[in-house]
Amino acid sequence: MGLKDVLTRLPVGFLTVLKTLGRKPVTIQYPEQQKPMSARFRGRHQLKRYEDGLERCIGCALCAAACPADAIYVEAAENTNEARYSPGERYAKVYEINMLRCIFCGYCEDACPTNAIVLEPIEFPTGYTRESMIYTKAMLLEPPPPGVPDTPQQTPPGKYDRAILPFPPIDESV
Ligand code: SF4
Ligand code: SF4
Repeated sequence: MGLKDVLTRLPVGFLTVLKTLGRKPVTIQYPEQQKPMSARFRGRHQLKRYEDGLERCIGCALCAAACPADAIYVEAAENTNEARYSPGERYAKVYEINMLRCIFCGYCEDACPTNAIVLEPIEFPTGYTRESMIYTKAMLLEPPPPGVPDTPQQTPPGKYDRAILPFPPIDESV
């Protein structure tokens, strides 16, 4: 680059700097700030509930079996009518996803028989330590609908015998 080039290009560079000096920065302080995402964006997982607040997850671990990255860990436990988390016999006592392993392929969604695990357009997992990237059930489970009690719930015997429900549950008394 000759002296002539330097003398002609430098002012152009300075002019560009001057033009942008007054503009608001476009930098987003990710992960503290996040851009609004499209409704079709497949972000991180959420564990879903039925409208009556019961958890859709029945602890069957089909999602873990389908996961190509071995990112999901499920430990099931027994429901009782006094402490019911989900319809049917079992619920997920422990449900964890290692977001460092996850490749967001959605196979877990496909494998789930109750549509319990869904990739949603919500914040993408971020963290500064390995431990913080293990998302626990408490982090993944959506809150109950407004005015609906959280799990565990007390439920009448026989109402939730089936693990995979049509919703609302069939009321046998009518
Ligand atoms: S999105 Fe894919 S990689 Fe991630 S937990 Fe689900 S099955 Fe595993
Ligand atoms: S999320 Fe679905 S596939 Fe995974 S353990 Fe729960 S019910 Fe089974």
